[in-house]
Order: sequence, then structure tokens, then C-alpha cells
Amino acid sequence: MTNKIEMNRPIVEMDGDEMTRILWSSVKENLLLPYVNLKTEYYDLHVSNRDKTDDRVTFDAASAVKKWGVGVKCATITPNADRVKEYNLKKEWPSPNGTIRKILDGTVFRAPIMINSVKPAVRYWKKPIIVARHAFGDIYDGVAIRFNEPGSAEITYKSTSGHDERVKYPDFKGSGVLIGIYNIDKSIEGFADASFKYAIMKKVDLWFAAKDTISKVYDADFKEIFRKIYETRYKEEFARLGINYNYYLIDDAISRVVRSEGGFVWACKNYDGDVFSDMVSTAFGSLALMTSELFSPEGYYLSEAAHGTVQRHYYKYLKGEKVSTNPTALIFAWTRGLKRRGEIDGLKDLAEFSEKLENAVISTIEKDKIMTQDIAKLSEPSVSEHVTSEEFIAAVKKNLEKSLRN
Ligand code: NAP
Ligand code: MG
Repeated sequence: MTNKIEMNRPIVEMDGDEMTRILWSSVKENLLLPYVNLKTEYYDLHVSNRDKTDDRVTFDAASAVKKWGVGVKCATITPNADRVKEYNLKKEWPSPNGTIRKILDGTVFRAPIMINSVKPAVRYWKKPIIVARHAFGDIYDGVAIRFNEPGSAEITYKSTSGHDERVKYPDFKGSGVLIGIYNIDKSIEGFADASFKYAIMKKVDLWFAAKDTISKVYDADFKEIFRKIYETRYKEEFARLGINYNYYLIDDAISRVVRSEGGFVWACKNYDGDVFSDMVSTAFGSLALMTSELFSPEGYYLSEAAHGTVQRHYYKYLKGEKVSTNPTALIFAWTRGLKRRGEIDGLKDLAEFSEKLENAVISTIEKDKIMTQDIAKLSEPSVSEHVTSEEFIAAVKKNLEKSLRN
């Protein structure tokens, strides 16, 4: 083996739970440490350690991403009542992803990993569709009332300087429900900015869709913020790269997405992103073939797998049974983080290594037809045999070494 690839600055490593924790360390051991002088600042987000530190470790890990710019994260348990019992926790700690996202003010971009033998359900799709979800406000932070008689309601806004504004709902003729939602320009700007930056990084078009014809104040605000940021910050760069920014009405966007070849970033409002990211990822194949990258306007970056800790497989693993959990998305969490570190620090070798490792994974599945059970089910032509996670990682290692020798 030639010399190991050097790094100058660390990436923040957040370890996680269950099956993904097992695979995380195997990926490191087999696919990274032999080739890279890996520098990481390690934070153990195992649910027991979050409990022990009163969740301090999650906050520290997020702050470390602010310091070093780049982080990679393993999947983590978001505790519910069952988990509190299972791990003897002090309480149901909040979702680490929620905590980290709030601290970094990021937008999450989910993209499918394209494998030729795993065909999207939509036959026109040839290139990835990346869904960018605005993860703040709207119905996720709304207030609501259920009323049981006819009546009326209004919304009152009071500014801190003492100015009032009121709007009335139509009179209610019977029982029903009402809701009040909001968003903040600064958050929408961050979302728009991160979406434009991501499209530039990937050199693909950006779509944003909303319903400003009906929602003439609310959605129109989003539309206008996207337009302004495009005109003032990114129009020239888009022209230089030959990519486009398009605003569509949301219903028009849906039919365009299905008829498209893919190959664009689709920026979605919070609810649209929640719903359509599941639709798009399912139509592309599998959560285990999905990257998830958090990208903030300040340039902080965090990559992880889109799936959870794969609890069901972990229980089999604990019983000593063979498991065939797909480590692809976890490997890509690492490669994307290392690639980003390499790009920021000008380490060409590191960025190239990441690409070679990604290609080694893809050719293991596509050319060698070696795969875990989840993809074996989807593959065309179908394959009858599948391998364990460890066998898959060993096959990837072989391909990686071949390409590192060239
Ligand atoms: P999950 O871990 O995503 O797994 C759900 C099912 O999807 C698995 O049972 C498995 O199906 C399949 N699957 C997911 N990833 C796979 C992979 N890499 N290879 C093969 N199959 C895969 O979701 P969950 O079981 O609902 O959640 C488990 C824990 O993860 C929860 O405690 C939750 O809080 C946490 N979670 C964390 C994150 C995160 O950290 N980003 C995200 C979501 C959930 P089969 O069983 O049919 O094989
Ligand atoms: Mg959802």
C-alpha cells in the first residue's frame, strides 16, 4: 500500500446507535483507516451517553461542526417511552437531528444514490431529484383551536413598537377547527440561500414551488424572497454554469417532476418537503440508497444516512444471526464529509479517494452483482443471492483497492 492520505483539519464524527453503530465502526475500520490518516473529533451520541451527559454531548457535537465546518453523523435513536425503558433513560431526550438542525440553522438535502440496476418506479427519471426541505415553521409550529359552536375569530399581531394589526376569519356557522401558522423571513432567506448554493455546488437547476395564487401573502413571501436572492446573489453564477432557477405553482411542479428526467434540486416548503421527500425516495428505490446532507447558509455541513438505526436487524445481530443491512448510505455519509473537507482544505487526494470509494460501492452492486437483501429485492435483472453486511463491505474493499492501485 502506498502512503496514507493526509488531512489537515478534523471532521466532526458523531457516533450513533444499534445496527448503524456496528456498521459505522466496520466502515471506518475496513474502508477508511487503512487508506486515510483519519482526523476526527469524536462525539459519542449513543443514547446512553446522551442520557449520561444530559444531552450535553449533542450540543457539543453541533458546536464542533460550527468550529470545524464539516461533520458526519451515524443514525441515532430518538427515544420514546419504549426506549426509556429499554435503555433506562432519565427522560425522552429530543431528536438529536432536531437539536443539531436548530443550532446549525440548516436545510436538509436528500438525494438518491443512482445504481443502474435499481430502476426508479417513474420510468422517465434518469438523474437524481434532490429534495431540499425547509425545516422551520408553517404547520410544524402552528397554533390551533377546535370550536364547538358558531362563532368568530381573528388574528392579532402586535409589534414590539406598539403597532397592531388584525385580520378576521369568516364567521363560523357551526363547529369546526382553525389554525394559525407563521414563518420568519430570516429563516426563509437561509433556506433559499442554502438551496441556491447547493444547486451551484451540484451544477443543476433549482426549482421552487408554492401556491402564491391562493396564498397571496404567505406563499407570495416565499416566492419573493427566492426571487430577490436569485436576482441579487446568484443570477450571474447560474448563467455562468448554464443552470436555471424556476418558480412553479406547486400543482404544476408535481406533474413536471413526474414527467422530468430528474437532475435538479427541488426546494420544498416544510410540509411539501416532508411529504414529497418520502414520495421521491420511495420512487427511487430504498432509504439505504439515499444521502442526506445538511447545508447551512454559513457553509456548515453535516452528512448522514437518511435511514434510522435499523433496530430490527440489530436485535437479530445481538442473537448472533447473520444480518444483511445495507451500509451504502453510511459509507456515503463518510465520503461526502471527507469530500467536503477535501474541497474546503484543498486536499485533492482526499476528494479523489472519496469518489473512488463511492464508485467502488456502486460497481460492487452494479457490476459484481454483490448486494444486501434490500437491493437484491429491487434489482433488475433480479438476483437470487444476497450477502451479509460484512461480506458486502469486504467486496467494496476489494474494488476500492483495485481502483487505488490504478
Ligand atoms: P429504520 O432504522 O430506517 O428502519 C426501518 C426499516 O427499513 C428496517 O427495519 C429495514 O427493513 C429497512 N432499512 C432501513 N435502513 C436499512 C438499511 N441500511 N439496509 C437494509 N434495510 C434497511 O427506521 P425505524 O426502525 O423506524 O427506526 C429505528 C430507530 O432509528 C428509531 O429509534 C428512530 O428514532 C431512529 N431514526 C433515526 C434517524 C436518524 O438518526 N437520522 C432517522 C430515522 C429513524 P426490514 O426490517 O424490512 O429489512
Ligand atoms: Mg415525513
